[in-house]
Amino acid sequence: MKHLLDQLGTGLPAFLREAGLPAYRARQVRHWLFAGRASEFAAMTDLPAALRESLAAEFSLWTTEIAAHRQANDETEKLLLQLADGNRIECVLIREGERRTCCVSTQVGCAMGCVFCASGLEGVVRNLSTGEILEQLLRLQQLLPPDERLSHIVVMGMGEPLANLDRLLPALEWATSPEGLGISGRRVTISTVGLPAALQRLASEKHPYHLAVSLHAPNDALRNQLVPVNKSAGLADVVAAADEYFAANGRRLTFEYVLLGNLNDQPEHAKQLAALLRQRTAMVNLIPYNPVAGLPYQTPSGRAVDRFVEILQNAGVEVQVRVRKGDQIDAACGQLRRSLATTEPVTLP
Ligand code: SAH
Repeated sequence: MKHLLDQLGTGLPAFLREAGLPAYRARQVRHWLFAGRASEFAAMTDLPAALRESLAAEFSLWTTEIAAHRQANDETEKLLLQLADGNRIECVLIREGERRTCCVSTQVGCAMGCVFCASGLEGVVRNLSTGEILEQLLRLQQLLPPDERLSHIVVMGMGEPLANLDRLLPALEWATSPEGLGISGRRVTISTVGLPAALQRLASEKHPYHLAVSLHAPNDALRNQLVPVNKSAGLADVVAAADEYFAANGRRLTFEYVLLGNLNDQPEHAKQLAALLRQRTAMVNLIPYNPVAGLPYQTPSGRAVDRFVEILQNAGVEVQVRVRKGDQIDAACGQLRRSLATTEPVTLP
């Protein structure tokens, strides 16, 4: 069966046309999905019963099962979703004040090979489809009470979003469309290791999305070691492509920097980073390393973090230290998938 969420743009209208049904039925179905939070065709009560049945025979509404659902004390919730082919991905709902942020995955695994990241330890298995990306959003939306809406999207789950742009961008179109989830494009952040060609494409298409580039090192020697894909496009190319994106959409860039104790958290690294970013409209998001079982890296000391922040600030670079959310539920970066790799799926009531 076809995944309805992959067919919203052309497949669903074509199906209706062939059945001799009016085009507005597609709009009704979409409304039920995105605004009505329908979880089955039978719930789409203003559609004729015969249409509901033929839709159910032609399309599947869900292709994932919830393999695990975790909730942390800080109200962060994480879903481990089992895809139709048995692969598993993660998505997270983060509550901060009025914000309801969802963090979604774009690939099963990841090919970038960042040495400290749990998602890519076994390489990439495959790209997610547009429908599978959208389904994460809808599943997370269902965790909210009816009077609350998803407000922000961060594409910071498993995978490298810029390696799967052809499926991600249509998913974001539905997420931001008034006929979809209606989330402002300005509240969408795409986090990337920084693939220059894909960044240039994004820049030329003039998207409103906020860009976060994962640097993790202020020079090529260290970045080659921590972010192996850097060997094919060095820091200068990555930063130049980020500049191009900024020139196209004018939104302040974010540079992410995972602080690994005694590895990239020294004053000399902060000074080099400040020199690299000083002239730019950019913010540095420092992320203290979140330990991954089996990896040898260390969380930085509080003193090292403070020192790093101070050097950047003194150089006039804006900086923020990311507050960790959902630690107790393995919320970061492919960790739940790993820790539950052998667990059987459990569908929640
Ligand atoms: N592929 C994208 C999205 C990755 S996840 C990217 O590279 O940006 C979002 C951020 O979490 C990235 O900056 C990533 O490097 C970081 N991250 C991965 N593993 C981490 C860990 N164990 N501790 C802290 N941050 C981590």
